[in-house]
Amino acid sequence: MRVPSPLIHSKSHTAIHSSSSVLPKFLHTTHPKKIPSPPAPTQLNDLLNTASHTKNIRHVTQIHAQIITSNCTSLPSLLNKLLSLYAKCGQVDQSVLLFSQASDGSKNVVTWTSLITQQSHASKPFKALTLFNQMRSTGVYPNHFTFSAVLPACAGTMVSSHGEQIHCLVIKHGFDCDIFVGSALVDMYAKCSRMDAAEKVFDEMPDRNLVTWNSMVVGLLQNKFFDRAVLVFREVLKRDSIAPDEVTFSSALSACGNNGSSEFGRQVHGLVVKENLMSSSYVKNSLLDMYCKCGSLDDALRQFQTSGVQDVVTWNVMMMGFVNNDKFEEACHYFTFMRSKGVIPDEVSFSTVLHATASISALSQGTSIHDQILKSGSVNSSCVGGALIMMYAKCGSLADATRAFEEIKGRTVVCWSAMITAFQQHGCADQAIELFEDMLGQGTKPDYVTLVSLLAACSHAGRVDKGYLYFNTMSKIFGINPGHEHYACMVDLLGRAGRLDEAKKFIELMPIKADATAWGALLGACSNHGNLEMGREVADRLFELQPDNPGNYVLLSNMYSREGRLKEADEVRRLMSVNGLKKEPGCSWVDVKNTTFVFTVHDRSHAMTREIYEMLGQLEELVRKRGHVPQVQFSVNSIGEYKERNLWYHSERLALAFALLTLPNGAPVRIKKNLRTCGDCHTVMKFASDIYKREIVVRDVNRFHRFTDGQCSCGDYW
Ligand code: ZN
Ligand code: ZN
Repeated sequence: MRVPSPLIHSKSHTAIHSSSSVLPKFLHTTHPKKIPSPPAPTQLNDLLNTASHTKNIRHVTQIHAQIITSNCTSLPSLLNKLLSLYAKCGQVDQSVLLFSQASDGSKNVVTWTSLITQQSHASKPFKALTLFNQMRSTGVYPNHFTFSAVLPACAGTMVSSHGEQIHCLVIKHGFDCDIFVGSALVDMYAKCSRMDAAEKVFDEMPDRNLVTWNSMVVGLLQNKFFDRAVLVFREVLKRDSIAPDEVTFSSALSACGNNGSSEFGRQVHGLVVKENLMSSSYVKNSLLDMYCKCGSLDDALRQFQTSGVQDVVTWNVMMMGFVNNDKFEEACHYFTFMRSKGVIPDEVSFSTVLHATASISALSQGTSIHDQILKSGSVNSSCVGGALIMMYAKCGSLADATRAFEEIKGRTVVCWSAMITAFQQHGCADQAIELFEDMLGQGTKPDYVTLVSLLAACSHAGRVDKGYLYFNTMSKIFGINPGHEHYACMVDLLGRAGRLDEAKKFIELMPIKADATAWGALLGACSNHGNLEMGREVADRLFELQPDNPGNYVLLSNMYSREGRLKEADEVRRLMSVNGLKKEPGCSWVDVKNTTFVFTVHDRSHAMTREIYEMLGQLEELVRKRGHVPQVQFSVNSIGEYKERNLWYHSERLALAFALLTLPNGAPVRIKKNLRTCGDCHTVMKFASDIYKREIVVRDVNRFHRFTDGQCSCGDYW
C-alpha cells in the first residue's frame, strides 16, 4: 500500500529543490529556528518507511540528521531501517560507517543480519563472515535469517570448509530442520561443487518447498549433472504441493539441451505452455537455447520468430545456436539483422559474432565489428577482448591481434590465453612462452586453456624439456590437474621430436585412459617420421575409438603408399569405404574484395580458370628455376608424371594463383584450407612469398603458416 505522504510525490532527483519544498515542515534545514519540538520516533519511523519507496539519498541523509538531533540513534528499530535504506540507495559504505559508530547495545540480531546480507550481496563474502564472527563474540545469537544470509557468503569464498563450519553451527543452534536454512545449505554446497553434501542435506530435510527443489535442480545443472537434474525435475512434477516456476522450467530445459534429450525437452515445452509461462523471457530464451543445443535449428527458428518481443538475450541465444551448429554466415547475418531492429548488442553478442567471423576468416567483417565494439566501449570486457584477439589471429593477422591485446586494459586470464594461443597458432612459440612468463610476472594465474596453448607451443617449437617442466609442475604450482588435451600435447611434443617410443610409453602410463586426441597425435608423429610399424598398431586403436573418422584411414593409407606398398594402401581405402566413410575433399578459400572464393583440387569451375592455370604454369617455371624438386610422395593415389601434375593443382595453389591475379600489389594473401596442407605446397608457398614479395598466410586445419621472404613462421617444424 502506498503511504499518502508528500515525499513520494517528489518524482525525480533532478528537481531536488522543488522536492524539498514539499517535505514535512521539520525537514526544512534552511530555517532551523522555525523547527518545533523534535519528531517522535514513530514519526521518524514513518518517514523512513516512506523514503524506502523513493530511495532518494538526499531524503535519507535528511532523516538521518533528524534522528541524530532527536537523540534517537540508539533505537535498534530506527538504526536497522536506516542501515538497510543506505544499502538500498547503493551507499553500502555509509551503512558500514553508521554500523561501526553505533553502540553494541543498539545492535540486535536484525542489525547484524542486515549488515551481513549487505556485504554478501556486495560480493564481499569475507567481510560478511567476519561480521558473523563479531556478532557471535558480542553474545548475539544468530537466527534462521542470519544463517540464510551467511551461507551464500560461504559459497562466495569458494572455500567449502567455511560452509562446513557454518553447517555445524546450524545444527548446534537447532536450525537444521528449518526449510530456509536447509535450502541455503543445499545452494551453498552446490556452489562449492560439493553435490554429494548438497544431496545429503536435501535428502535429510523433513520439508522442502519450491526454493529447496530449485536449489537442487540449479545446483545439479551448474555442476553438469544434467541427467540427475532432469530426474529431480521429474520428481518435482510428481508433487502436487509444489508448482514449478520459471526457474525450475528454465533449469530443466537447460539440462535437456545439455544432455541432448530433445524429446523430453519438447514435453517440457508443452508443460511451459500449459502453465502459461511463455510470457517469461527467461523461459522463452531457455526454450530457444534447448532447441539450439539439441541441434533442432528449425524448431529454434520457429520459436525465435513466434516468441514476440526479442530482447538482446534472445538474439544472443539464436546467434550462439548458429555458431554451435557451424552456421557461421547465418550468425553474422543475424547480428546485422539484430542491429537493424535497433537492439543494442552486449558483450555476449559481440563475442559470439566474433567467433563466427573468425570461423569463416572474414577479416573485413571482423574489423567492422571491432569498430562497433570501440564505439560501444565494451573493449575492456574480458570475453570481448579475448574474442577480438582470437578473431584477428584466426583471420591470419597476428599484428592486429597483438594490437588488440595491447589496447586492452586490465587483462584477464582469458585475454592472456587468447594471445598465447594466437602466437602458438602462428608458429611463434618463443613469443608464446615469453608471454606466458610475462603473465605470471604480472600476477595472473593461468587456467586450463592457457596451459594447453603453452604446451602446444612447446611442442610446435620442439622445446621438449621446457614442455616437460611445465607439464610436471602444473598441478603443484598452478593447481590444475592435467586433462586429455594436456596429455595429447605431451604425446605430440615427444612425437614431433621423433621420440616415438617414449611417446607410446607416455600414453601407456597415463593415469587417465588415453582418448583419440592422444592416439591421433601419435599417429600423426608415426606418419611424419615414417614409422609404419607403430603407425599400423596406433591406427588400429583409433579405428576402435573413432570408427567414423576418415582422417585416420587416409593417414595410414598414405603411409603405405609412401613406402610403395600400394596393395595395402588400397586395402585401407577399401576398409574405409566399406565403413561408409569418404575422404573429405580438399578445399581452399580465399577472400577477394569482400567475397569468398572456394577452390577444390583440379578445380576448373571458376570464370578465370584459364588465367589461373596460366599463372600456375608461370609459378611452376619460376620455382623450378630456383631448384625446386617436387616432393611427389605427397601426391598419393596417382602414378608417374601425373603425380607431379596432381601436386600442382592442389586447392591452395589454385587459390594462391587467383589471389595473385586479383588482389592489389603487395596486399597479403590469406588462404584457408579444410585439411592439412602438404609438404610440397608448403615449399611452393615459401618460394612464392619471395618471388612475388607478398605475405602469404595459409590456415590449415591444424595451424597457421605465415610465409614471408621465402621463409615460413613455423620454421618448417610442423
Ligand atoms: Zn599440397
Ligand atoms: Zn609453415
